[in-house]
Amino acid sequence: MTINYTNRSKSQLLEEIQRLHTELAAVNLMTEKRTTALYISEERFSLAMRGANDGLWDWNLESDEVYYSPRWKSMLGYGENELDNDLNTWANLVHPDDKDRVLEKVQDYLVGEADSFEVEMRMHHKDGHEVYVLSRAFLVIRESDGKPARLVGTHVDITERKLAEVFDNKNADILEMIAIGRSASDIYDAIALLYEARHPGMRCSMLELEHNKLLHGGAPSLPKAYCDAVNGLENGPNVGSCGTSTFTGQRVLVENIETDPKWEKIKHYALPHGMRCCWSEPIKDSSGKVLGAFGMYYNHPALPNEAELHDLISAARLAGIVMERDQTQKRIQILAYTDELTGLASRAAFSQHLAEITKTSARHNRRFGLLYIDLDDFKAVNDSLGHDAGDLLLKTIAKRLVNTCREIDFIARLGGDEFCILIEEVDNDYAANVAKRCLDAIAQPIEMYSRKLTPACSIGIAYYPDDGKDLSELLKAGDTSLYTAKENGKNQYAFYKAELTQQAEYRFHVEQNLREAIEKQQLSLVYQPQIAVNTEEIFGFEALSRWHHPELGQVPPIDFIATAEKIGMIKPLTEWVLRTACGQLVAWKKEGFHSLRMAVNISPSLFLDKEFASLIKRVIEDVGIAPSELELEVTECVVQTDPRNLSIFQDLKDLGVLLAIDDFGKGYSSFASLKHLKVDCLKIDKYFVDDMLVDNQALTLISSMIEMGHKLGYGIIAEGVEKPEQLNMLRSLGCEKVQGYLFSTPANTDTISKLLVPRQRKLDKMASGA
Ligand code: C2E
Ligand code: CA
Ligand code: CA
Repeated sequence: MTINYTNRSKSQLLEEIQRLHTELAAVNLMTEKRTTALYISEERFSLAMRGANDGLWDWNLESDEVYYSPRWKSMLGYGENELDNDLNTWANLVHPDDKDRVLEKVQDYLVGEADSFEVEMRMHHKDGHEVYVLSRAFLVIRESDGKPARLVGTHVDITERKLAEVFDNKNADILEMIAIGRSASDIYDAIALLYEARHPGMRCSMLELEHNKLLHGGAPSLPKAYCDAVNGLENGPNVGSCGTSTFTGQRVLVENIETDPKWEKIKHYALPHGMRCCWSEPIKDSSGKVLGAFGMYYNHPALPNEAELHDLISAARLAGIVMERDQTQKRIQILAYTDELTGLASRAAFSQHLAEITKTSARHNRRFGLLYIDLDDFKAVNDSLGHDAGDLLLKTIAKRLVNTCREIDFIARLGGDEFCILIEEVDNDYAANVAKRCLDAIAQPIEMYSRKLTPACSIGIAYYPDDGKDLSELLKAGDTSLYTAKENGKNQYAFYKAELTQQAEYRFHVEQNLREAIEKQQLSLVYQPQIAVNTEEIFGFEALSRWHHPELGQVPPIDFIATAEKIGMIKPLTEWVLRTACGQLVAWKKEGFHSLRMAVNISPSLFLDKEFASLIKRVIEDVGIAPSELELEVTECVVQTDPRNLSIFQDLKDLGVLLAIDDFGKGYSSFASLKHLKVDCLKIDKYFVDDMLVDNQALTLISSMIEMGHKLGYGIIAEGVEKPEQLNMLRSLGCEKVQGYLFSTPANTDTISKLLVPRQRKLDKMASGA
């Protein structure tokens, strides 16, 4: 019987084989020497099988002998004479994960639970790789007793089909990853691994193109050093395979990296890692724009075969879907989080950012401020000039806000003419400061459609966590304070808590007017006499600054001194105080009041100023007093702060001026910390004087301060003496000088001159009497 196998399908062939098997089995059963007969007939089968390319096996269920045909063996890489004819051969070659399942199927078939036997399994090839096998069999029944005698079957190599299936499944997985929005880098890795599995030895890479630069996308099997080297390269006509393909938009197949001129400049990146050929397919979006490149590498020089070329193209297409998706997502992100008209953050972005900083602020126990800005009378602009004008105005306002704020301040347009600014790490003044600057910036006139417009806005300020703990609470607080600002007459800001607004307003006014006051010397000085306890005579004065502002009234020195520090005006202010006070001393001398000295308060910051000692020197010389007639009062904190102070202290001492520690005892300085400084006098703080008559502890403290001070050679002056009892107590404790309302409040020069007259008479009398 001759059969032409070439034109038949595999399933037809299998049917044919099965038919032949049945036929043969029937014949064999009739013969005595069944087994031998079968084996002889097997030759006929094998002839038949050769065309079908199937392996044949025959398992004698009684002897457990198994016959494996030469094709069966070669399918797994073995020669005709290799492998034993027993069940172990199969058992050793089948994939352990598949073995039990196959044996179960055999069992089911043998006991009649299944009508047919057909199973797919993986078997080990001699080379080590796996071969997918489709195994089919039929049972040969002995006619004599009707018992199963043999199981006869075929093996078909279905590896190719199975790999295609696996590939299709993985491909589907990747599409799903794209669809569910997995990150691009995860998907790039999956794509690379997918194609690498299909072509053993191949390594794949995906690069994204951004403004002519190649950026690493994914290459799980390429060494990091290589990926890093390529990342950031600029593409061009001769920049390897991918740099070139992204530049030309054409496929670039480099057979040998070592010799190809396109790799000349960058081959040293690839060669050390073994790569020898590289094929690159540009990745394009649906409009044909190049988004990146897909690269395939082997460690040997080669050009792609048909399958590889096919895969290169489809891989690039797949990666293209990912890249395009990402770009679209980025665009959507930008659209959703940016306000189209102004380019500021949108309401969505604002909500997101606020949620984030709420979290971080809570974690670090920090505050942040929210400025809720609303344009005043924006509707009128829209109504009278039209919506285009309104839009233009909003754009201008947005620009002004951006220019007014720091980079870290978050500015958003919430919609319409409402803007919000989030300011992190702030004190009350800072938020008010920003609000103030915004008011000023927005109020600049705008020329629009040849009409001059002066926009204005109102601002509500709310704080996290004081005024609200989440988005809605904070917006509500901001809105409420905005309403207050509008109610109060627009073009202003308001805090959620009214008193903060007043405080900030006041500080602004102080700040605004102080510079001018200092420059125009609108401050004045008062002098508080300092008294020697034993004679009860004035021996000197402390000069104290006063500022009377026509609207603000009398501004307390603590307020304007601190503000002067803040706005960098403390030095000119102090110089003015020094010149005025020392000048006054000279004037009194001229009036005949001698042996007096002047104490001037010096801000601690000046003790960090290298020029300070020379300033003092200049003043003394200009005014014409002896250095010992001037005492500088400085608070204890100077002693603590900075070693640099020491040299300035020394310079001043060398100059011969006196130094006093002001408010002594109030801070933390100890006598020990004073020992490096050559001070002349300690001014015991009013706090101790206040309490010493009623509080024993205060009394103990003050008495030991006096005692210790004297032992260390300091003069002692007690401040804030208001009652005769205090004076008596101080006297008994050995305090030699006092200052306080008991003798005089700080007073103007006329008053002081009147105080000085009797003293001078007494002194004169003592001089003439002696
Ligand atoms: P200070 O240096 O401790 O000045 C003493 C303050 O106590 C003065 O307040 C004075 O008026 C007040 N005082 C004096 N005797 C009594 C008293 O018996 N009872 C009470 N209740 N108060 C008394 P003032 O003038 O308001 O000055 C406050 C602070 O401002 C000063 O404290 C000083 O630190 C600062 N200051 C004033 N003028 C200047 C200045 O020109 N430069 C600098 N850097 N600071 C100044
Ligand atoms: Ca003082
Ligand atoms: Ca003081």
